[in-house]
Amino acid sequence: MRGADLIDIKRVLAGYDLDDLSIATLGSHSALQILHGAKKEGFRTIAIVEKRRKWFYEEFAHLIDQMIVVDSWRDVASKDVVLRLRESNAIFIPHGSFVEYIGLDRAESMEVPMFGIRSIFRIEADQRMKMDFLAKAGINIPREYRIGEEFRGPVIVKFPGAKGGRGYFIARTKDEVRRGIKKALEDGLISDEEEALIQEYVIGVPAYYHFFYSPMLKRLEILGADIRYESNADGLHRILPFVRGEIDVSFVVVGNVPLVLRESLLPKIMRYGLNFVRYSQERLPPGVIGPFCLESVIRDDGEIVVFEFSGRIVAGTNIYLTGSPYSHLYWDEPMSVGRRIAREIKLAQEEGKLDEVVT
Ligand code: AMP
Repeated sequence: MRGADLIDIKRVLAGYDLDDLSIATLGSHSALQILHGAKKEGFRTIAIVEKRRKWFYEEFAHLIDQMIVVDSWRDVASKDVVLRLRESNAIFIPHGSFVEYIGLDRAESMEVPMFGIRSIFRIEADQRMKMDFLAKAGINIPREYRIGEEFRGPVIVKFPGAKGGRGYFIARTKDEVRRGIKKALEDGLISDEEEALIQEYVIGVPAYYHFFYSPMLKRLEILGADIRYESNADGLHRILPFVRGEIDVSFVVVGNVPLVLRESLLPKIMRYGLNFVRYSQERLPPGVIGPFCLESVIRDDGEIVVFEFSGRIVAGTNIYLTGSPYSHLYWDEPMSVGRRIAREIKLAQEEGKLDEVVT
């Protein structure tokens, strides 16, 4: 049985003083946004920080009521840290780096109430399960090929756990695919060629949509969108005339650029978001809670192909600390995703339904 099935968060919550909650997160990724939002909604805040980054978070001491310093991320799920979090009646906010830093098993079984569903972590950790989830939700995904299969147009070859797209490669022929996978095996990036996911490389504009599903208001909100700036893919066009295929394309995220979409694209994007929520409710009850992101390429025929999702807050939301053009449509006040999380916790707290937003 997995960690997520073994823990009893309702029992932990029963020991909490629900009028005196704190919001806690790991010092990285979108922590400043989350802590800022929690403060705006009147919560006490806790940042768990690695010793080497303590000085940096001290620069933002006005956003942090308590700092828990750990030697390494592995200690986050230790008994000591868990106890300190519980003593402060903490709701933990997992962000995009959480599972990567502390490991899937520890993340699933950390006995602190977490905003959102942890059952999605295991699906996110597996490229094939993730694509299967999207397809079953009724979302258009790129074609997948097997090793040795003929294809037209470029493909992108992905490996599990590749941080920020590092190690991915683009191939034009099935022989290039074979060579790249052989190299990945030699480099120890994978231990079995079946771990490589060979996906149609969709030509168009990459666009990432920031959704928020509210169990309290029973509605899906689109809170923003962004384009990632990736090295070296987004730098290549500058020297393209000189390169002619001598440089390998890479996708290491260096930042995010705000995006406002053509309004005529929004209904399809919203439909995908709703499909995702509905399918998650069926497959992973009670279904997605709070932020999630669909990552896509928009083709020139208006088709939107989703190649990835995140079941948590993504770093692209950091652009909109003071709200986005979309968040204003719902809230008409500066509403970041970080603040929206705290608002949802506050709504749940007021209605005595905290157990409906944490797992
Ligand atoms: P991922 O780790 O899946 O988010 O992919 C890293 C980056 O590779 C993305 O941000 C995109 O720029 C690019 N990418 C991934 N999959 C595809 C695809 N099927 N077609 C085109 N670009 C892709």
